Amino acid sequence: MYDWEDEQFYEPSPYDGHIETLIQAIRADVKEGIISEMNRLKKENAELQDVKRDFEAIKREYEQKKIELEYAKHNVKNEVRRERLVELMGDFTHELYKASSKRNVRPKCDKCDERRMIHYTSPLGNPKQEDCDCKNGIAYYEPRSYLCSSYEVRNSEFIAWYKAYEIDADGMEFEFITSSSTAKIIYAGEDFEKLEDYHYIHFKSKEDCQRYCDWLTAKEAEKVK
Ligand SMILES: [Zn+2]
Repeated sequence: MYDWEDEQFYEPSPYDGHIETLIQAIRADVKEGIISEMNRLKKENAELQDVKRDFEAIKREYEQKKIELEYAKHNVKNEVRRERLVELMGDFTHELYKASSKRNVRPKCDKCDERRMIHYTSPLGNPKQEDCDCKNGIAYYEPRSYLCSSYEVRNSEFIAWYKAYEIDADGMEFEFITSSSTAKIIYAGEDFEKLEDYHYIHFKSKEDCQRYCDWLTAKEAEKVK
């Protein structure tokens, strides 16, 4: 049977060869496009890796610089504080001397009893007794050392506290009983007569303090003459 329709349908078209060529061309083109795109991406990725590496290095360097800067800032602050403290401290000395009062036992006189009491009869005829003068020792003075036990800066003023100390077999110890005090008056070469109460006068030099102590002792000796 003649099947016209079939024959017409399967009749080779003049375009068949062209289509095949076109498909091949498109395939080649697409493949080339993909390869070139992949290569481009590969290259870009490699470049990005470099950028990332550089970025990490820059970040590390930045962190390092930040630390260095903080450190430098801290040092500058400390240096400024230290300079300010040195300026505030002025001619601060960690050890000062003060005249300390002691008493010498005087020889017993022959007017009192063994307890150095004087016995007498009151105007009303009652027996009375009182301490003999020889019981009172003669005051003498010697330099006592005071060390700076603490200090602070208050209202831009440097304040140092001094405490007496004693040296024992184990080393040095501040005396707990003595309260620390600030050295308000520091001897500056004045005449000893002009100085106030010896309790408040601090000496930077032990020799000056010793001369002052000798002067105070001589004054006490004058009193009992
Ligand atoms: Zn006496």
